[in-house]
Order: sequence, then C-alpha cells, then structure tokens
Amino acid sequence: MKIGVIHKYRKHLPVTDKTPVITLQEGSTPLLRVENIEKEFNFPFQLYLKYEGVNPTGSFKDRGMTVAISKAVEKGCEYVICASTGNTSASAAAYASKAKLKALVVIPEGSIALGKLSQAMIHGAKVVAIKGNFDDALKIVREICEKYPVELVNSLNPNRIEGQKTAAFEIVDALGRAPDFHAMPVGNAGNITAYWKGYKEYCAIRPVMMGFQAAKSAPIVEGHPIKKPETIATAIRIGNPASWKKAEAARDESGGLIDKVTDDEILSAYKALAELEGIFVEPASASTLAGLIKYNKKSYFKKATKETIVVGVLTGHGLKDPDRAIKSCFQPEIVEATTAKVCRAFDL
Ligand SMILES: *Cc1c(COP(=O)(O)O)cnc(C)c1O
Repeated sequence: MKIGVIHKYRKHLPVTDKTPVITLQEGSTPLLRVENIEKEFNFPFQLYLKYEGVNPTGSFKDRGMTVAISKAVEKGCEYVICASTGNTSASAAAYASKAKLKALVVIPEGSIALGKLSQAMIHGAKVVAIKGNFDDALKIVREICEKYPVELVNSLNPNRIEGQKTAAFEIVDALGRAPDFHAMPVGNAGNITAYWKGYKEYCAIRPVMMGFQAAKSAPIVEGHPIKKPETIATAIRIGNPASWKKAEAARDESGGLIDKVTDDEILSAYKALAELEGIFVEPASASTLAGLIKYNKKSYFKKATKETIVVGVLTGHGLKDPDRAIKSCFQPEIVEATTAKVCRAFDL
C-alpha cells in the first residue's frame, strides 16, 4: 500500500502528532532485479535497482520534500526557496502547491532539462534563471535565507536528508538485510549522506558505499571545487557539493569509494537500462550502472558470488529529459502512407 514516507516511517522521522503531513504518496518505489544486465555485463553478483523515477514528481527528491514542506507548514512559513538543477524545483513546486505555500526557484539558465522546468512552472513556482551555474544559484538562495523569512528546501535543510534516508529503510525491508554494496550518483551529495544515515540507523551490518560523479564535474574525486562543471547528466552538474564532507564520511566509514564516470560511459549505461530492462532513467541516474560496469571491469568484485547483493539507485525518470533520449537514438524514417512502404521500412 502507498501511504507516503512520513506515515510509513514516522517513528524514525522528526515529526509529531502536531506536524501536518503534506504528502503525494511518495516512496514505496520498486526494487527491480535486473538479470539481463547481470548477464550482459558478466556481473558475478545479484543486482537490484531502486527505481526512484516513479516517485510523484519523478525523482527521489520527493522523499525529502514531504518532510521539508510538512515542517515548513508546521513552523508557519509562507515561502520556500531552492536552487536547483531541476528536480528539487519540480518537487518543491509540487509539494508547496499542495501545502498552499509559495515556491521560489533559482535555476542556472539553459541547463535545466525541459521536463523539470515544465514541472516547476505548471505548479506555479516563481522561477528565476541566472546567468551562472548551480553553485552560484545555491550561494544566492543561502544569502536570501539570511535576509528574508523564507525556508530553504535544498538538501542543506536537514529535514530533506531525514526524508531521503527512508529509501535505505525500504531497501533493507525488501531484502531482509542491507545489501553488500550500494551504488549511486553523487551531485550535491545530500542523497549519499541520506542513504548512509538510513543504513546506520536501521542495521548493524551495512553496505560498502560506491558514489559516482560525472568526469568533468567530479570535485570530490579531484579533491577541489570545479569552477565550470560540465556533463550531459545535468542533475549532477555540480562543482562544489554542499554535503562534500558528509559524502566523504559515508565513503570512509563504509570502506567504500567515490569515483567518476565519463559522459560516454553514462550514455551507454543509459541505453543499456532502456534496451535490456525496460527502465527509462534520466542520464544522471545511469552513472550508477556506468560505475558498476567500470568497477566490474577492474575486478573490484572478484570475491563476489551470486549470494552477493548489490543495490543501485536510479534517481530520476527518463521523461525528465526527452531531448537526450531522442538525440541518442536513430530517428524514425518518414515514408509514404502505404502498407507496402511501411513494410519495406521495417525490412519485413
Ligand atoms: C538531485 C539528483 C541527483 C544528485 O543527488 P545529490 O543529493 O545532489 O547528490 C542525482 N540524480 C538525480 C536525478 C537528481 O535529481
């Protein structure tokens, strides 16, 4: 039954009987075993993918937003604000409209996938695009929050992390234990922080955490902020992650790693998920599989068997960024409107 993450995991979350619950019934997402992928890439382990793209606004951000917006209502806020590469603004706008709050959104001009921008707009957020990148946008909204009575709903807001940790709970509930390895994309690094917090609170035996950044947007891997981050995976196009230190803590405490994958590796994993498993994700999500393929080739999993369980997170839905899908495929052939011509085009 879908009831939303606050009702489902109430005793693990910072809510009381007085907290109004603003929910769109987020969470309870599928954990899919992907055997075609296991075979194709010779994975020696069982791979399960947590398909967060089927949350109400199409990304995992909804798990954090239900808690952040509910707490904002409880505090009596009127305005919420966020900087966004797209999905945070889509989620904030939807939950704010449900809560009758006003949402203010700052985005980097020209680098928001069309689906995400349309969501922020249709839910009635006030959207401002800046001639700068995500890191500039986050700096601006933090300054606004110091001066005006508006609630920040980026993952710097601890209520976001609290909500997002419920995905780790769901994985453990579904498997009956924590996985051996947990792979995911890393952008602003709030989500890897949230998963690690969730595993620590929920189980004694925890996974090795594997985080993947995009090659030209990999500040944690390079060890310094990136001034002009670039990648087709716009959701992780971030040069100075807000939760940098916490991501490193998740990596180090779990004996894991944070590494980078190229745009080409991301795109081939993106197509593999769609063609082999029927799973359509946005490019940032595919960095999870790209990273696992890369590490399997390096023999990182040489001790793994078919008893070994690896979970990967697919953070957002493919329909967020339809341009990318169309650009990565052969275009439909256009023919005369006759059965014969259509058959010839199909090589029938
Ligand atoms: C926000 C987002 C990420 C990155 O998550 P962080 O918490 O910023 O590391 C990855 N993929 C998608 C689809 C996202 O929306």
